[in-house]
Amino acid sequence: MNTSAGVGGDHSVLIVGSGPVGLTIACDLRRQGVSVRVVERNAEAGYTDPHSRAILIIPRSLEVLGRIGVVSELIKLGNRVPIIEYYSDGKRLGTARFNRMSDSAFPFVLSIPQRLTEAVLRRRFEELGGTVEYNTEVVEVEPGPGGFSPLVTLRSGDGAVTRFAPGWLVGADGAGSKVRSAIGEKLLGDATDVTYLIADARIDGMDAQRARYCYSKDGVLTIIPMPEGYFRVAANIPHLNGASDDADWQNVLQGCVDRRMGPGLVVGDLRYVRAVRPSCGRVGRMQFGRCFLAGDAAHVVSPAGGQGLNLGFQDAINLGWRLAGVISGVLPESKLEEYGPERTQAARRTSMVAATIIRFAQTRGTVRRMARDVGFLVADKVGLVQRFLVPSLSQTDVRYPMPHSSHRLVGRRLPDPSMAGGTGGCTATDSYSVAVWNFDRAAEKYSGDVSGRFRDAIPEGAPVVEIPSTRGTRRAVNGWFHQGAPVAALVRPDGHVERVARLSRRG
Ligand SMILES: Cc1cc2nc3c(=O)[nH]c(=O)nc-3n(C[C@H](O)[C@H](O)[C@H](O)COP(=O)(O)OP(=O)(O)OC[C@H]3O[C@@H](n4cnc5c(N)ncnc54)[C@H](O)[C@@H]3O)c2cc1C
Repeated sequence: MNTSAGVGGDHSVLIVGSGPVGLTIACDLRRQGVSVRVVERNAEAGYTDPHSRAILIIPRSLEVLGRIGVVSELIKLGNRVPIIEYYSDGKRLGTARFNRMSDSAFPFVLSIPQRLTEAVLRRRFEELGGTVEYNTEVVEVEPGPGGFSPLVTLRSGDGAVTRFAPGWLVGADGAGSKVRSAIGEKLLGDATDVTYLIADARIDGMDAQRARYCYSKDGVLTIIPMPEGYFRVAANIPHLNGASDDADWQNVLQGCVDRRMGPGLVVGDLRYVRAVRPSCGRVGRMQFGRCFLAGDAAHVVSPAGGQGLNLGFQDAINLGWRLAGVISGVLPESKLEEYGPERTQAARRTSMVAATIIRFAQTRGTVRRMARDVGFLVADKVGLVQRFLVPSLSQTDVRYPMPHSSHRLVGRRLPDPSMAGGTGGCTATDSYSVAVWNFDRAAEKYSGDVSGRFRDAIPEGAPVVEIPSTRGTRRAVNGWFHQGAPVAALVRPDGHVERVARLSRRG
């Protein structure tokens, strides 16, 4: 083993891992002019897992990914799924209609294999002038002087070892994260232990526009239409003890489909099949001085809800604008301290939803299952599925804790303004913006210095964009404001509202 004696270092960001989360952070930082180094232990792109792992990108992820300019390419390659239907023993219980979402520019879930998502992100990173350093593994992370300004040991494919002291370190190195263990954190807090059979299969008799989630005495089954005429099929099965390579998976899946959905669907060619038994859990902290964890390095949730990768995308964007703002000197370093609490809370909530879905699916006993089904039918009838389940699965209802106000808008995401014909600015700018609504009152009656309301919350010189109130915007935020004095909202670069101020009439 060659060992170079010197310690390299600079003020750039070192990202460990070129999975989807590492690449998203890398693109967001590069786009904002930050110097980024990405190291990847695999010898080449797509080396470990050429098959599709995550296949769903939900509306909120599409909104935030708009910041790095990859959404139209993803949509071009993916399959829009506007509807998820829920069944019990072959009878439809309810329908989640994403196509009726009124507050997102993306009223559908996008089904796209993770390998394609990663390819799009990689191309974007290269367009932005970035290069992934393959064959480069982080083997050790030590705390540097003065808290956690890390010192990283890298080993390349030929065995050469170098030490590097980056300005900032992001561990996006997946579920087995080296960075996480180096800083002494563990994935804890989720006892879910389920084995899933996951396959990409042709299925005769399935509608390519609708996903199905099927409960039955036998277990749960999901079928999600993918591009190229395939379907992602996932079913819980007994734990596999020992070798399973020679199993007739097509027959096993056909049996699951017949027992859990009913007759009429025929499983054809299997492009990919795998049994997974994920060890789920979350870390308690995602920041240690100048070191951050993101994506599966910080939280692994059950694939049941299709939310794991989406959590990671939102970590990436939540971190990207803060880090770029701090490095460029526009934001104080304290802004980074909000990252961990916000994202651990979001991960806790998403894990709870995934665990509830599993518990719900595994309900035992005829009476309990009947109660579950009747409850679902009623919830669908009275609109609760549309009102609560769709925003929860879309992660458009994420609300971050913020100390400044109890106004119901604070902490929430502003409805995507591009759908409202606005500037498209809230989720795409790198700066804070100010949204003003004055409903039908004449704006000129009210204080002109709207941005001045928030001057104490953002650094002097930070640009502020006023987003015009359009009919579409008003419709989208309908119900958030009571009639009365108009209000202005201070909106973060990731589209979440940080503060709200009531405007007062001019003297
Ligand atoms: C079978 C399966 C099905 C799934 N289905 C879904 C789904 O339907 N929906 C969903 O949202 N999620 C799903 N997931 C989860 C999803 O794949 C992950 O959430 C996602 O890959 C996390 O991305 P990441 O970038 O955080 O980590 P990863 O994709 O794991 O990337 C980490 C990268 O870091 C590299 N690396 C690791 N250690 C080092 C080191 N020491 N030095 C340098 N590089 C290193 C790895 O080689 C890898 O390239 C599924 C996962 C599996 C396994």
